[in-house]
Amino acid sequence: MPIYEFKCADCGNEFSEIRRIGEDKGVPCPSCSSVKTIKKISAFASISTGGNTPTCSHGAGGG
Ligand SMILES: [Zn+2]
Repeated sequence: MPIYEFKCADCGNEFSEIRRIGEDKGVPCPSCSSVKTIKKISAFASISTGGNTPTCSHGAGGG
């Protein structure tokens, strides 16, 4: 099951909950028990920080 990140719009608390696909609504805030939680966009691939990464491009050789 994917882990969704939520942010409470009431107290601003950020928490993560393991929810099923589609059941990412109505998640109560563990801090103030508010249901005004906003689901954050979970990044599947981590973004590398600090300079550019050398891409492995060998180039298409004939043959
Ligand atoms: Zn809250």
